[in-house]
Amino acid sequence: MTTTLPAYDDVVARYEPVIGLETHVELGTNTKMFCACPTDFGGEPNTRVCPVCLGLPGSLPVANKAAIEATIRIGLALNCSIASWCRFARKNYFYPDMPKNFQISQYDEPLCVDGYLDVEVNGDLVRIGIERVHLEEDTGKSLHVGGSGRIHGATESLVDYNRAGIPLVEIVTKPVDGTGALAPEVARAYVTELRDVIRSLGVSDVRMEEGSLRCDVNTSLHPAGSTEWGTRTETKNVNSLRSVERAVRSEMLRQAMVLDSGGRIVQETRHFHEDTGDTTSGRSKETATDYRYFPEPDLVPLAPDTAWVAELKAALPELPRLHRRRLQQDWGLSDHDMQSVLNAGAVELIEATVAAGATPAAARKWWLGELSRRANEAGVELADVGATPTQVAELQGLVDAGKLNDKLARVVLEGVVAGEGSPTEIMTNRNLGVVSDTGALTAAVDEAIAANPDIAEKVRSGKVAAAGALVGAVMKTTRGQADAKTVRELVLERLGVS
Ligand SMILES: [Zn+2]
Repeated sequence: MTTTLPAYDDVVARYEPVIGLETHVELGTNTKMFCACPTDFGGEPNTRVCPVCLGLPGSLPVANKAAIEATIRIGLALNCSIASWCRFARKNYFYPDMPKNFQISQYDEPLCVDGYLDVEVNGDLVRIGIERVHLEEDTGKSLHVGGSGRIHGATESLVDYNRAGIPLVEIVTKPVDGTGALAPEVARAYVTELRDVIRSLGVSDVRMEEGSLRCDVNTSLHPAGSTEWGTRTETKNVNSLRSVERAVRSEMLRQAMVLDSGGRIVQETRHFHEDTGDTTSGRSKETATDYRYFPEPDLVPLAPDTAWVAELKAALPELPRLHRRRLQQDWGLSDHDMQSVLNAGAVELIEATVAAGATPAAARKWWLGELSRRANEAGVELADVGATPTQVAELQGLVDAGKLNDKLARVVLEGVVAGEGSPTEIMTNRNLGVVSDTGALTAAVDEAIAANPDIAEKVRSGKVAAAGALVGAVMKTTRGQADAKTVRELVLERLGVS
């Protein structure tokens, strides 16, 4: 069997990929799915628990209405039909982070079915079918400590049930075929768009790095032209948007290598490794029968009122893709310029800066220029660079009022990023404002004239353009703080040519 990965172009010339994505989103409700325990991130282990989420005998779950509402809103935003009647189901499996030894989920009666999400890939729309959106509860977290820190070789395994019972929405796509070489990019575009849609609904903070949005990626390959799909694998632990793309690509290459050498793909879960970009084999995949699903006997069926669903639908916010289109028009940007804004992750920042009073052009200049540069240097997201939209708008306001020039504004911004306060405070505290007071500037102008008699003579004799060198000299002695226009007027006045 060969162990060399084939070239990607060669793989997509001979094979067709089919992908599918299962995304779990932790809802931002105040309390857990079936009890009143708080849900906020962090907290001492096992302090946010009660008899219900610990699965103690005799405790009874009660469904969280806010979670049901959030799930219906996600379903509606994804163009799904909402079930008029459905049930929760018990999914039985034993795992230490599951205190009840079963998870309350939904099986053959999901709350939302048969929708779609349109995503843009290289300027083209790709419609991703949504098979189902259902509601379940999260598990706890196992921690393996001592030794290697992995399960094997750890000296102790601990479990924290704070997360057990947090409402979790699972969004499953229909199989996506026909995307060919673009499959990895389509996968990434879908998860990005889904994240933006859910964020726009305000039902989750959808932070992949904190695990409130988690993604499993299914991939299979079949020979080009064949109508029969290949066996799929499910890649877990995909913790960033970039990894979604890398995981699909890596699995396509690996499967092609196996198929090329006459091997067969095993249906299994695989683990993605951020460091190498590879996947390794996990457990062979359980089938639904292994979970022995049955309707949850402790909960009544869900029957959302149609009038309520219609009300939720009418109140949906503008979807991100349409919202971006509108902003692009309002800001007067070309497709290319809008793409730069998107790539920089600056849409919401610019929007908020404009709302705080800056022009779109000025807002874009700061966020894509100086602040993007600083974010790159510091290796952080633009939103975490240390400046807020309000501060950027205030800074630009000082420039527009002639109190700061561009150079001074960049110095002030440095202070903002370092947490020294608001732009106005920093300008005042560091005495960085533009000096336009003629009394203070006349001495500096006279000094520049005295130091450059030849240039002064040229200006006197009518070569007004030569005055620029004198203005430059004054700007230098005032460390850039002089108002250049006032200095120029003063120079001409002192040399008797105004
Ligand atoms: Zn609880």
